[in-house]
Amino acid sequence: MQAAPAQTQHAPLAPHATVPTDQACRDRLGRPLRDLRLSVIDQCNFRCTYCMPKERFGRDYPFLTAQQRLSDTELLRIVRAFVGLGVEKVRLTGGEPLLRKGIEALVEAIASLRTRGGKQVEVAMTTNGSLLARKARALRDAGLGRVTVSLDSLDDGVFRAMNDVGFPVARVLEGIDAACAAGLAPVKVNCVVERGTNDAQVLPLVEHFRGSGVTLRFIEYMDVEGPRGWSQSRVVPSGEIRAMVERAHALLPVARRDAETASNYLLADGSLKLGFISSVSHPFCGDCTRARVSVDGRLHLCLFATSSVDLRPHLSAHRPAEALAEAISQAWQARGDRYSELRAESRAERLASGKRQYPTVRMSLVGG
Ligand code: SAM
Ligand code: SF4
Ligand code: SF4
Repeated sequence: MQAAPAQTQHAPLAPHATVPTDQACRDRLGRPLRDLRLSVIDQCNFRCTYCMPKERFGRDYPFLTAQQRLSDTELLRIVRAFVGLGVEKVRLTGGEPLLRKGIEALVEAIASLRTRGGKQVEVAMTTNGSLLARKARALRDAGLGRVTVSLDSLDDGVFRAMNDVGFPVARVLEGIDAACAAGLAPVKVNCVVERGTNDAQVLPLVEHFRGSGVTLRFIEYMDVEGPRGWSQSRVVPSGEIRAMVERAHALLPVARRDAETASNYLLADGSLKLGFISSVSHPFCGDCTRARVSVDGRLHLCLFATSSVDLRPHLSAHRPAEALAEAISQAWQARGDRYSELRAESRAERLASGKRQYPTVRMSLVGG
């Protein structure tokens, strides 16, 4: 396992209780800007084979330096601008967000912002859970509302092989328990299913989380920049995963809420809520209301976009806050990305050529 990276010392945060107001911001396809996914670090203590394979993300990999990473004050400025444009939910991600020093202070500052409607901004986090057992309570106290923990297997051998740093599954399970005990509810558990690697773990995960209050979500393996060996044949479509569950349990569909990425089901006895995220087999670009900002201050309009907008020129202390909001708003209004839909439309062609047709960006930089 790698040690937590050193961080620069940042000035104390100055949270603001109010934010500037603006009109609702919609992109070219009419999708409103609703959520922000903020990647707070590009490094990780895992080397999940589907995200940061060791052979590509080795010791000499050029991760962002401390100087290239935005300070908490700069990140907060960005969040404030998004909130002013109507964003109400901020998800912190990475790399591994809990490796960022002082993450609790950042959570606290974001949670102290108010939406345009005067509500507290919702702060959530996606984490690999490795440091959650000791941090869950402090994060909750800082204002974190919800947490999603990635967990691909209950079998320790399979889990260690997938995180590829030999991290034991028991410690992630402790983290999930600590998150539940701290009230970071509803705790969600995300499992990326890869054919031939962990597809036999679907039912054990279902059985393990029945009655726990946790929502279990299965994610199709995506062709993001990172995994070298991605191929369509290693994707287990959600329909197939659901059929595996249905051989053991009856499922009841749950109505989908607006802009929700998962199709949700309940085990008929009510003991577990399940979600299926079908970004490969059933893309949901039409509902994609999420902006992503990486820790180097770049705005990514799509998980698969190769170009991004540099927000750093608008972050200096003498630039007005409005300039940053204007840059974000303009970029969003010009957005027409719908990569997953295009991929689905061109699948036959791609399968014939055996190649990906569209370039992608590093998942550990943009944060999923
Ligand atoms: N390190 C944290 C974690 O693992 O939860 C946060 C960052 S990680 C990039 C965010 C999410 O992306 C995780 O749930 C992970 O499983 C998912 N992910 C990474 N690579 C993926 C891939 N190739 N296909 C589908 N999901 C992927
Ligand atoms: Fe790290 Fe998360 Fe990527 Fe795994 S999925 S390598 S835990 S960033
Ligand atoms: Fe959103 Fe891009 Fe994913 Fe489509 S492919 S759902 S536009 S991030």
